[in-house]
Amino acid sequence: MLDTLRQIAEEVGHTTNLQQALGLIVGWVKQTMRAGACSVYLQDPGHGDFVLMATDGLRPESVLKVRLAPGEGLVGTVAQRHEPLLLRDAAAHPAFRYFPETGEERYTSFLGVPIIHFRQVLGVLVIQHQEHPDLGDNEIAFLVTIASQLAGAIHEAATAGDDDTEARRTLSDTRRYVGATGAPGVGIGTLVAPSPYADLDRVPDRDGRDPETEETAFREAVVAVEEELRRGSERMADLLPKEVRDLFDVYALFISDSQLIDDIVARIREGKWAASALRAAIDERTAVFARMPDPYLRQRGEDIRAVARRVLLHLHSDTRDPRNYPERCILAGDEVSLARIADVPPGRLAGIVCRHGSTLSHVALIARSLGIPAIMGAHDLPFKRLQGHTVVVDGYGGRVFVDPSPSVLSEFERLSKEEEQLVSSLAALRDLPAETPDGVQIPLYANAGLASDVALGQRNGAAGVGLYRSEFPFMLRASFPGEEAQYRIYRRVLESCAPQPVTMRTLDIGADKALPYFPIEEENAALGWRGIRVTLDHPEIFLTQLRAMLRANAGLGNLRLLFPMVSRLDEVKAAMALLDQAYEGLESEGKTAMKPPIGVMIEVPAAVYCIRHMAPYVEFFSLGTNDLTQYLLAVDRGNEHVAELYDHLHPAVLQCVRDAIDAAHGAARPIAVCGEMAADPLGAVLLLGMGVDSLSMAAPGIPHIKWVIRNFAFEQARVLADRALELADASAIRPLLIAALEEVGLGGLIRAGR
Ligand code: PEP
Ligand code: MG
Repeated sequence: MLDTLRQIAEEVGHTTNLQQALGLIVGWVKQTMRAGACSVYLQDPGHGDFVLMATDGLRPESVLKVRLAPGEGLVGTVAQRHEPLLLRDAAAHPAFRYFPETGEERYTSFLGVPIIHFRQVLGVLVIQHQEHPDLGDNEIAFLVTIASQLAGAIHEAATAGDDDTEARRTLSDTRRYVGATGAPGVGIGTLVAPSPYADLDRVPDRDGRDPETEETAFREAVVAVEEELRRGSERMADLLPKEVRDLFDVYALFISDSQLIDDIVARIREGKWAASALRAAIDERTAVFARMPDPYLRQRGEDIRAVARRVLLHLHSDTRDPRNYPERCILAGDEVSLARIADVPPGRLAGIVCRHGSTLSHVALIARSLGIPAIMGAHDLPFKRLQGHTVVVDGYGGRVFVDPSPSVLSEFERLSKEEEQLVSSLAALRDLPAETPDGVQIPLYANAGLASDVALGQRNGAAGVGLYRSEFPFMLRASFPGEEAQYRIYRRVLESCAPQPVTMRTLDIGADKALPYFPIEEENAALGWRGIRVTLDHPEIFLTQLRAMLRANAGLGNLRLLFPMVSRLDEVKAAMALLDQAYEGLESEGKTAMKPPIGVMIEVPAAVYCIRHMAPYVEFFSLGTNDLTQYLLAVDRGNEHVAELYDHLHPAVLQCVRDAIDAAHGAARPIAVCGEMAADPLGAVLLLGMGVDSLSMAAPGIPHIKWVIRNFAFEQARVLADRALELADASAIRPLLIAALEEVGLGGLIRAGR
């Protein structure tokens, strides 16, 4: 039974037609439970009613006609109580309601179980029998198992895909979709999705009419895509740094891969339609990538598909995407390729939403470089049906609002305007210090991974780079960069900031930061081989990086070095021994180099409580609240299932941050915060009150936080932090902070859309 259940869940997962999915389910459940009827009621998120969506056993014409309010009838009762209901004589129950159009008078018993997906009641699964069958605990447990296993697939079928059946229209959209933050900012515009003809998955397996014509069409399409990629790369030349533009070459490589072309042509010559041949060959290639546990490598498979879709678009050149993009365009898709971004005329791209991918996907890096808000992993967004709809992309909260209500829209418009005003008014503030009204200075630094992040930081008035994620340039390559290549990258960053300081973190790979050429496969990656653990185990990689950094610092002296994922003192000592070795090696070779101040990232709870032991060996500390929150709360930062539990305002996180700050200051060492908490106005106020020495954040967040610091007195923040630390729950802490920001006129930073 479990095997067939798994199989049916998979089949349902693959259908893009809700009606078809539900039809599969009711037929299978009816048969398996030997019931007279099986029906699915789903909640209409717009009205809250439960609508009969599919049945096998009731009259088909009653589908979409029967509606029950929450709490109404037996179905409404099951949904409201969140528990199964078994009745041998359904009509005797006080909540029973009779719907003559269903013909259900034939059945006497009723067994209904709620369909629940992550605490949300999606609907009710019901079976009915004609006579008193032998229904009991076993049958209830069985149906509960079925409903729980199918909930995910039903949820997916109800929200994804592009069918526009009556069933789908009956269920109004939830209008609010959640993903991960790809790039911060607020974008409002018109949704543009790829043409359905570019959907590789929907290309039917067909024979072509004439292989020769098909082959010519295919080869022409490939040439056209190559040409487009070349033009795209040129067009982006002034906007994107070289290392990001190199992605165009990666895409071009996919499409000019002669093995792939030969494979497709062979299929065409066997008689296949060009589009079918393309799909089959690409499916075969990407299946290998799709099975890879490593998200980075899976992403490469998605890149190949993105390029193939462009070829497909050219094959259907009569149905090509309209080139007249709206003035403010929100690009949406399963993935959004770099080539697609380059297609949008300059100045019109207002946001990006991808159903797949994560904060580390290429497109997220690019969006950040371009300063375009982006949401990744918005799995539920039925983008193909939303072509032309108004969309708000909230790149701070990782949310997408479709057809926003006038109040939500005006809130975000105001926020967006405030943002614009803020950024432009910051032009005046740019060179002023981030100083509280009572005279406490909290320098604001930029987090950077690409040269363009550094430049944006400078434009936004950063005091330097507080966290340079050195793994980013490693991620955009096909192999480890050598010492010279690294030297050039680091030197450019240090030079462009000098005399401002740049805190460079040594390679932090593992867990969610994978390198395509250095796969790490682990059951429990977040607790495994990552950060300093990897580099200490691979001194040859570490020494190369340290040598490049020490050389890059020569004559400039603005480098500060940071070790990631430290959990014990001996890691610091070992890393420093390697740093000495790198320095001595350079000296003996007669190469100029300069030693920087050393810091430790505090992102593992154990490190917080070792600060006093580490302090004698290092010059500074930097709190990585992203990982600290993950490890303290035992919540995987990249797992959407527990995303709601991930909260840097959890009282335990606040207490731990305070302990870290106090420990560092007790040992006379400065301590910064470089996690996302620093970019959250609520978090920043607390950190200010707890006495943190500086903050570092993604460059677009700097204007906001500068505004907070310049308007919120330190004394006031100190009292607020003390009060917050007394509270037992984030749900009490958050309103306290919001009220405090509202009081000083900073509410606009946190209010919109929440
Ligand atoms: C952190 O963990 O807070 C941090 C800044 O590092 P990263 O997000 O790169 O893991
Ligand atoms: Mg970290």
